[in-house]
Order: sequence, then C-alpha cells, then structure tokens
Amino acid sequence: MLSIYNTLTKRKEEFKPINPASISMYVCGPTVYDYFHIGNARSFIMADVIRRYLEFKGFSVKYVMNLTDVDDKIIKKSLQEKKETKFISENYVEAFFEDIHKLKIKPANIYPKATEHMDDIVKLIEELEAKHFAYNINGNVFYDVSKFKDYGKLSGKKINELESGSRIEINEEKKNPLDFSLWKKAKIGEPYWNSPWGNGRPGWHIECSAMSCKHLGKTFDIHAGGNDLIFPHHENEIAQSEAANDKKFVNYWIHFGFLNINEEKMSKSLGNFFTARDILKKYSAEAIRLSFIQTHYAGPLNFSEDLLASSEKGLEKLKNLAVRIMEELNTQNNSGIIPAFDFQYYEDNFISAMDDNFNSPQASAVIFDFIRDINRILAENNNISNEFYQLIKSFLEKTAVGVFGILDFSDYSTLNSVMLEDSLIKFLVNLRIEAKREKNFALSDKIRDGLKELGITLQDSKDKTSYKKYNLNI
Ligand code: AMP
Ligand code: ZN
Repeated sequence: MLSIYNTLTKRKEEFKPINPASISMYVCGPTVYDYFHIGNARSFIMADVIRRYLEFKGFSVKYVMNLTDVDDKIIKKSLQEKKETKFISENYVEAFFEDIHKLKIKPANIYPKATEHMDDIVKLIEELEAKHFAYNINGNVFYDVSKFKDYGKLSGKKINELESGSRIEINEEKKNPLDFSLWKKAKIGEPYWNSPWGNGRPGWHIECSAMSCKHLGKTFDIHAGGNDLIFPHHENEIAQSEAANDKKFVNYWIHFGFLNINEEKMSKSLGNFFTARDILKKYSAEAIRLSFIQTHYAGPLNFSEDLLASSEKGLEKLKNLAVRIMEELNTQNNSGIIPAFDFQYYEDNFISAMDDNFNSPQASAVIFDFIRDINRILAENNNISNEFYQLIKSFLEKTAVGVFGILDFSDYSTLNSVMLEDSLIKFLVNLRIEAKREKNFALSDKIRDGLKELGITLQDSKDKTSYKKYNLNI
C-alpha cells in the first residue's frame, strides 16, 4: 500500500487515485528567465522519481509541468538585455529541455505555457468575477481572499494572522494586502494580451489553476512543487480553482524540501546558486540524482561538492556491477550454476521503503545492500549461469534504472557491441580453422573473403590466425 504525506491534511494517507488507469499529476515548472539552478533541479528530480515509482507500481501517469513564460522576472530580464520577452523565454525553454534531458528526467506528457492558454486564463478570471471572488480596479483584477472561507487550509495560515510577506505583492489599490493579482494592467513597453479588463497579462497563480484544469480536469490526484510554493502560490491556486469549480481541487499535495547552501536556501534572488548546467560539467547526472535520492524529498538538503563527489564514488560500485553483468552476458554460459539468492527479498524491501511516502534514502540503501550481497555471491561461486546475471540485471533495471535513473545499461552498449563483435570474429576464425582442418577450403576461403568485405583481415601465421579490424586497404 502506497502512502503519501499530504500537505493538505498534514498526515500520511493511503494513495487512492481517482482513476487508477491514469493518474493525474501536476508539477509547478520553471519561470523561464534563466538557466535553472541545482535547487530547482532537486524539485524536478524528486518529482521525476515519484512519477517513475508510480509507473513502476503499474500506474499510467499523465504528467503535466507548466512553463511560466510571462512574468515580472522575464520582463525585467528583457529590459536589461534589450531583447523581446518572447526571445528570452524561448531561449530558456530550450535550455530547460536540454538540462532536464541531461539530468535524465523523463519528459512530461504536456508542458503547457501560460502564453498559449490566455483564453482559458481569461475565462477563469471571468468566472471568478461573476461569482464575486474577483474585483477590477482600473484594469487590475484581484482575487478577494476574504470571500473564500477555506483560505489558509493548505498552509495552515489564518487570514487575520497573515501579513504581506516575501512573495505577496504590495499594492495600494487592493482591498486587503492578501488579495492577489489575477490580471495585471499592461505598463508601457510590457507584453500584453486583450481582455475584458483591457490590455494586460495574467498573474502567476491563475496560470496554474487554468492550465491544470484544462489538462487534468477540475479535480486531480497529485500536485507537487517546492516548499516555498505552499504559500501563497498553492494556497491561491486552491482559492481560485475551488471558488470557480465548486469542487475539491487536488487530492494529494506533495512539497519538496529546499536545497540549501551553507544552511541558507539556494535561490536566484540571493545569488547563492549554481546552475544545473554548470554542475553537470563536473558531475554526472547519476551522481546528482543519487545525492538527492539519498535524502528524503520532504527534508532540507545541504548542498556541497563533497556530497556529489561521494555519490560519484558510491556509483562506482553500481557501475562495476553493471559492467560485470554486461561482460558475463556477452559470453555464452547457459549450463552454469544458479546460486541461491532471494531477489524477491530485496525487491520487497525496495517497495516497502518507497511505499512509505517515497522513502528513497532507504530504498537506495536496499540497492547498495543488494550490490554488496551479490558481489559476495559472485566472489564465492564459479561458473555462474547467464540466467543468474539476467536476474541481477532485471532487479537493477527495475530499481536503479527505472525508478531512480542512476544507471543506464545502454552506457555499456558500446563496450557490449565491441565485445560481441570480437567474440563473433573469434567464432568465425575458429570455424575457418576447423574447415581447413577438414580440407573444406571452399568454406575457409569464403569465411576469409566474407570477413575481408566487412573490413576484417585475417593473418595466418604458422600456428595461429590473428585478425585486424577496419583495414582501410579494403
Ligand atoms: P521557480 O522557477 O523559482 O518558480 O522554481 C521552480 C521550482 O523549483 C518550484 O517548484 C520551486 O519551489 C522549486 N525550487 C526553487 N528553489 C528551490 C530550492 N532551493 N530547493 C528546492 N526546490 C526549489
Ligand atoms: Zn504553479
């Protein structure tokens, strides 16, 4: 049974999907005005691990990650760089895709962009206005927080205790400092869209309410994002969506702990960040992923290069085993022994760790225990059948490859194909020796000529035949 800690109810709950045939999951994506940093990467990677685990459990997941491509920060950057906002956002959307690919993050099914959902956004604001949850002051439309009786239910904050904080905009026009922008009137030089309230652009929170509803429906299973989004972003999404739709918005809210540097949160505004792309120049995606996986997603994680270096070292054990498996599987051995080993025990432990609110540190410890125990078996036994190596490979394929993305057997496929090629050549060379011994010179010449056509020349000496690959004289 999978249980998930739900920020909304503040307890672990059994996961009961709305439709087990297709789980709906929405993750708040990047604001595309810069390369994303390694803190953002933590949230994206842990969301990816959760999605992969749901798939491991046999669910099909409809995974949506939005791209905020209209925002104050994008406008600021466009003014600084004297380039159009569209140029800035498109450039960083492309960079985002490159980076998540390098981080081995599975692509979402849909990446909705705010600029491509203006009609849905405007319609949602109109609905809120019609229901008196929104008011318009000179082309600026605000959400009236006092009208939504459940305001604060996600963050546990009470309206009267709240004050204007870091991500709350101060604006004298608002009735209440907590009221937030649904539609912002265009200022000179800013990009704008037409609306019933005049030219302007949407607020950040309404984008996610409109796009999640459009792609996943009025109520969906899982909504995730970093801790900083609980308030006000997700609180406001609930207020908007539930006021408009009269339905529960999201069943399970998952929030990722912050990645800190020197015990301080990593953020662009504090300037204490490393971009994922810079870190990837020095460390592998697998080491980055393992560093995050070895800390529970909900807690803080103090980032350091030592952490990455030690993950890189830990991965050596996994890689060595993978190389060994690939080497062994390249040689024919179906008659060897199958040592006694309880694969199911490790798989059950992996599952029970992950089922417990995605306890990836414990689940990764199961993989490393597995490696240690398998290595002992391999050291103690000779002449092990391929079937056993295949069992090791399939355990790792499900867990380290499939759920964690910290291993990729195809990295060893070059090694694999070179070794396979050599084995095939040797096989043909021996066949030719046999043919010659039996005085079947027609066949032995055929083998030699056939290999030559493939760029492999054979050189016979007195007692052995050697070969040269890719002889350019051919
Ligand atoms: P942003 O582009 O700032 O809207 O952030 C994109 C995602 O990364 C959101 O889910 C944020 O909550 C998350 N995030 C931002 N900074 C950090 C951090 N230091 N550690 C973990 N997640 C973060
Ligand atoms: Zn969002």
